[in-house]
Amino acid sequence: MLVGARVRQVRLLRRDVAHSFTCDGSYRRTRRRDLLLGETIESLTRHGKELTINSGTGPLVCVHLGMSGQLWYRPSRLHLQRRNHVHCIWWMDSPTSSGRLVFRDPRRFGGLWTFPSTEALHATRWSRLGPDALSIGAQTLRRRLSQTRRPIKAALLDQHIVAGIGNIYADEILFAAQIHPLSISNSISATDYRTLAKVIHSILRHAIAAGGSTTHDYIDGHGRPGSFARHHQVYGRPLQPCLRCGRQLQSIKVVQRTTIFCPQCQRIFNGPRVRRPLDNRTGLRTVTDYMDKTPAKHEASSIRITSPIGNKYSSPYSR
Ligand SMILES: [Zn+2]
Repeated sequence: MLVGARVRQVRLLRRDVAHSFTCDGSYRRTRRRDLLLGETIESLTRHGKELTINSGTGPLVCVHLGMSGQLWYRPSRLHLQRRNHVHCIWWMDSPTSSGRLVFRDPRRFGGLWTFPSTEALHATRWSRLGPDALSIGAQTLRRRLSQTRRPIKAALLDQHIVAGIGNIYADEILFAAQIHPLSISNSISATDYRTLAKVIHSILRHAIAAGGSTTHDYIDGHGRPGSFARHHQVYGRPLQPCLRCGRQLQSIKVVQRTTIFCPQCQRIFNGPRVRRPLDNRTGLRTVTDYMDKTPAKHEASSIRITSPIGNKYSSPYSR
């Protein structure tokens, strides 16, 4: 659809979503040529959560969708359904069809980055990205994750360690691998890393096949919502019974991201023990530091555990 098409016209409706770099890595105002005006699309590549639209002569556009970004193609004969929050439109002609590629992003956590060549992209924006999650092997995964003492959930979300795992999938992956999100990364066993790698591949493949997890108004390249949300085992189900053991799922914050897990099924490897008592006023249990190992200061302050008081509640960290 896109590959082989020539970009006839480009319209950038919102300048601050586009960022352009020259060969020497310096920043410049985005021109229509940077957004591939007049170029023929040769290929599309993906690494982690980023996609590139590559032209035949070198220049490329790197697209990051962020939380709410959408990139979709619409044949010329069809109207653009959603016009609000559309930031860039490319008009394309191919031998068989013509249409528009649309970048839309209501919350603007995503954006467009243009580079004069693949080398420039790899030397700058992609230089610190970890291996792609879909193809990472168990040994590489273990080597990279065991270099850190951060909680496994925080490490999985770090795109510099492994690229392509977002918040929803991190929870689903850890539930499937039966690993507690606060397990310390370098304490997880080799066997569990093998399981983790398998689970990462299978969950991401299933999610891609299902078109992703539509939680707000995400749509795919054809304008269709994803259906993976129907298969969520833990994400979006706090306080509901675990589908495996029936125990109530818990919700905590790890690096400011909501994290849902089963305290029964997900084993903790060398995690923190609860130091603070329950807060009688709010009824929440708050953990702000570790007893076993002291991570970097910014990590300790970024973890907060909350759990409702209940007679049946027992600390998941006592095992
Ligand atoms: Zn369970």
